Amino acid sequence: MSQLNKLKQSKLAIKTGENASQARKMLFVNLLVYVIISLAELEIGTLDHSVALMADGENNFTGIVSVLSLIVGLTFSKRPSDDYHVEGHWQYENLAVFLAGLTMFIVGLSCLWNGGVKLINLANGRTGSQLNGRAAYMAIVSAVCMLGLSIINEFVSHKLTSASLAASARDFFSDSLTSFGTMLAIAGATFLHIDWVDSAAAILLGGFIIYNGSKILSTSAAKLSNGFSPTIRKQMVKAIQAIPGAGSVTFIDVRYSGNNLVVTAEIELAGETKVVQSYGLCKEIEQLLQRQYPILYCCIQVRPKNSG
Ligand SMILES: [Zn+2]
Repeated sequence: MSQLNKLKQSKLAIKTGENASQARKMLFVNLLVYVIISLAELEIGTLDHSVALMADGENNFTGIVSVLSLIVGLTFSKRPSDDYHVEGHWQYENLAVFLAGLTMFIVGLSCLWNGGVKLINLANGRTGSQLNGRAAYMAIVSAVCMLGLSIINEFVSHKLTSASLAASARDFFSDSLTSFGTMLAIAGATFLHIDWVDSAAAILLGGFIIYNGSKILSTSAAKLSNGFSPTIRKQMVKAIQAIPGAGSVTFIDVRYSGNNLVVTAEIELAGETKVVQSYGLCKEIEQLLQRQYPILYCCIQVRPKNSG
């Protein structure tokens, strides 16, 4: 690898590394809020015999697991390349996001299960103990905190282009709705004495959490399995072919490495083009793409025209 290329790569590594460390600070704030809210919910839920608030506390407790997996992912993705991962460790971030999505999916399933079991118990005439209004106030405090953090995480994720924080924002948003639903269910069960509202809310929220978890799973799985938008790939082909001297693009593949892109392409040049000229053209293509996209590196192969 040339000196210039090495320098460019290390610059890019530092830039993305700084973003990752800022994202990590935000994640530690998230972790702290999850710990405080879930402990308070579990404590008040136990004191007031509110199963719904305890379930919401458990849901926020799994948020701790999810944030921890994101912090681990970001820490690993910051590590420089080694003999085993020559390209660097960027994919660890996508892997951590995938695991967080999987956690949400499983929590959603458990909400469906708990709601279903309670509904069956109610149908069989078994009712729980009377609820206390204090549980409803705790749920609304949780809902407001989670909504606030969702907005902050969404804002910071755009600024740092961090997949981890985007996942956190969605996580907080679904937690906010869970807490809000829990508040409604507790209020309904406490003040209106409608017992089944509690379980119905749990089933609805379980479905919502599964839906959100699935979306996170599908975007991270697309990146991990080397999928890439065909529209952006076509735009890249157009940009390359517009360079004077560059022939037609006969093959192009783009994939993610973390949030960075790796481009593999083959271009057709006139058979008498000198090696120095074609090398210069490849560098020109790389620089052009780097101006428009977060390119980690390009790997371009040259093929003489009419070579069959
Ligand atoms: Zn490694």
